[in-house]
Amino acid sequence: MGMEKAQGLVLRVTDWSETSRIATLWTEELGKVRVLAKGGRRAKSPFENALDLLTLCSMVLLRKSHGGLDILTEAQAVQFFPGIRKNLSSLHAGYYLAELLEGWTQDHDPHPALFQTAVQALYSWSGLGESALPEEEIKARVSYVLFHFESVLLREMGFQPELDACTGCGKLAGGWPMFFSPAQGGIQCQKCVSSDRFAVKISQPAWSAWRSVKATGECELWPRPLRKDLRKVLGTYFTYLLGKRPKLLPYLESGGI
Ligand SMILES: [Zn+2]
Repeated sequence: MGMEKAQGLVLRVTDWSETSRIATLWTEELGKVRVLAKGGRRAKSPFENALDLLTLCSMVLLRKSHGGLDILTEAQAVQFFPGIRKNLSSLHAGYYLAELLEGWTQDHDPHPALFQTAVQALYSWSGLGESALPEEEIKARVSYVLFHFESVLLREMGFQPELDACTGCGKLAGGWPMFFSPAQGGIQCQKCVSSDRFAVKISQPAWSAWRSVKATGECELWPRPLRKDLRKVLGTYFTYLLGKRPKLLPYLESGGI
């Protein structure tokens, strides 16, 4: 066993025994780790409130060499992102981020760029949760930051979508309607899509928005119908990749995120 220091986001916490908890964290140094926090349920816990969901904390853990849970020996909260809990759109986006990271990344497979993007997203959502902007503008900003996070997640996991040309015949995008095939990981023309039962229509505005979010990363205020179109395509893609529909997806859809 080796002692390691790491910084991570709390993705999930479950009670393990009368006094202990198991936490899943997305760390910069080690990727996803699952740790046993002994004494984590006591009122005077050695981890205080560092193990709250979506908290950024610094920690020391004892790493098991042959599978099994790592042992958390120290944890301190670095940032609570309090604004996330003050706005429903921010909260749902934060939970969705946790659900995707928890469900899709592998243990001990670090992606520092994805860690940084996740932390930046939480800072943005927390700030928006505290802001006095009109609700619809908050939604548009929360949504854009989430689309950006999802794009980075897809890229880091090796599933960057092919948006330039049909994945079937190679014809350049441009003849509408076009479709998005989760199985092929990219767009398809009307001819090639016929036997693909998971494919969904992608509108031209959603297609061009998705390409732009991949390229820039600066916040754009997209109208709700456009966000809805793109959410549907990305939701279909993540449902396919995860093998199940993400639990938070209906909340994003109904909230216009
Ligand atoms: Zn084609």
